[in-house]
Amino acid sequence: MKTYKDYLDGKGPNRIAREREEEGVPNWNGKAKWYESSIRKMLSNEKYKGDALLQKTYTVDFLTKKRVQNTGQIPRYYVEESHPAIIPKGMWETVQLEMERRRAFAEKYEIVKVDYAMIDNPFAGRVICGHCGSPFGRKVWNSTDETLRRKIWRCNKKYTNKGEKSCGNKHIDDRTLYQAFIDIFYAILENKEHFINKWRQQGGDDLLQKYKIEQFTELFREAILLSKFDIDLYFKLIEKMTVVNGEKNNCDFVGWHRS
Ligand SMILES: [Zn+2]
Repeated sequence: MKTYKDYLDGKGPNRIAREREEEGVPNWNGKAKWYESSIRKMLSNEKYKGDALLQKTYTVDFLTKKRVQNTGQIPRYYVEESHPAIIPKGMWETVQLEMERRRAFAEKYEIVKVDYAMIDNPFAGRVICGHCGSPFGRKVWNSTDETLRRKIWRCNKKYTNKGEKSCGNKHIDDRTLYQAFIDIFYAILENKEHFINKWRQQGGDDLLQKYKIEQFTELFREAILLSKFDIDLYFKLIEKMTVVNGEKNNCDFVGWHRS
């Protein structure tokens, strides 16, 4: 269950696997060893979907095929401890939609490592060039002077043919990106009722969008005051940040399909 929630909170399978190891959670083998691939399998395995295991309804009349809710008339499937924990069907389906969203996102922007953003590298695969549509990559500008050492993000197509300049977009300092997120967060927080109403009105039947609307509503209702960049909020909210002329130009939220 936690793995499903973590995934919907924007974490990648790689990061989830590492966290399970740190927590010492045993795998099917009894060892606290987790791989990205085992997390991926867990997220897409139908066995985890509630309806597959629990006999929630049963047939009372085999001629009319009438089914009623099972409230104890027949035994429900007994789930042994060795079996995987059951994930509510809606949540399982939402995770499949989020997987599909990430896959389509990676394909659209030709991102090889879409799910690999870690705590120390939150912008990987989430900063997109507003000029040519390529993802931005991180570069460290070294200097013998510590105070001049900088991490910058620039378009992956800035230099293509043998160092020849290609995309004309300017680079952006990672401190600007951290600050941009804080600014966006405050802009929404200040007008949260407006945004919550807008999300609610525009929300359709999409399970992922519904989940994110609920999550965002809860997040902003709690009205947390940020003093610094909050990594968990960032992963929950942000699908991508677009950079034009070396400045943050736009910001898109997870699960928010805009026309
Ligand atoms: Zn570019």
